[in-house]
Amino acid sequence: MRGIRFFALAALLGARPALSQATAPDLPFRIPVLVYHLIGEKDSRWGRSRDGLRRDLELLYERGYRPITVSQLVDRQFDIPAGTSPVVITFDDASPGQFSYIEQNGLLEIDPNSGVGIWLAFSRAHPDWRDRATFCLLPGASAGHAFFGDKGIDGQKTEWRLRKVRFLAEQGFELCNHTLWHARLNKYSDAVVQEQVARGLLAIDSAVAGYRVRTFALPLGLWPTNHALALTGRWTDPHSGRAVEYRFDAILEVTGALSGTPYGPGFNPRSIHRTQVIGENLRTLLDEIEPHRFRPR
Ligand SMILES: [Zn+2]
Repeated sequence: MRGIRFFALAALLGARPALSQATAPDLPFRIPVLVYHLIGEKDSRWGRSRDGLRRDLELLYERGYRPITVSQLVDRQFDIPAGTSPVVITFDDASPGQFSYIEQNGLLEIDPNSGVGIWLAFSRAHPDWRDRATFCLLPGASAGHAFFGDKGIDGQKTEWRLRKVRFLAEQGFELCNHTLWHARLNKYSDAVVQEQVARGLLAIDSAVAGYRVRTFALPLGLWPTNHALALTGRWTDPHSGRAVEYRFDAILEVTGALSGTPYGPGFNPRSIHRTQVIGENLRTLLDEIEPHRFRPR
């Protein structure tokens, strides 16, 4: 299995100019769509500290936000309490820090200091904060970015991977494809692009058979040369002869301005921009959205 130098690629992204947001400024509503990458000890260019994540959830809750998945956003399915507003929270790259197990006497417990552990503690304490977030998965990238850790990286065993993915689906979280190993899709042929996407889907299917993946997150926000292949395509496994066809309902980009995703008649589910939560920018984002805040009921 090929690996990638994930962090080197991620660093490159920092050098790219911010994508201009394809928004219509006169749209009436804005919805925060957030993205987290690494969850760890400290904030970093691509990481959120555990305490930062806890504070983010508290802040969103206090401000009257409740989570929905990307698919729910696309379907306009706002199953949140009356008077509250939707927030979409996404977790990219399937690192061990997002979801780790602790093994004790042969039993597996979710590490309360991993992203999922922090989330579950919060949702238990706040019953109207449901387990609704979107995890954009990598099954086979390097540095443990393989369904939340493999090969003993950060104490995570390879054989725990599918169980983690299944757990997320059973809880009601959404599983999203992020390719097989985070390939820069603008660098590859149409055939390789479709293979990367299809192999990501096959891996999710091996964890949750029959799961319909509706959301695709572009690695590093890079579109394939043939844009249409991010949305729909086909690939046949040369070994098994199994054909995989895909068609996504939502495409996630990486960057977004501090204005929130425009929501209304011009909402484009095939280019959803997200805001990476860093420092105190969540508070700023919510302040900016406030005049355009969406309350479904
Ligand atoms: Zn990524």
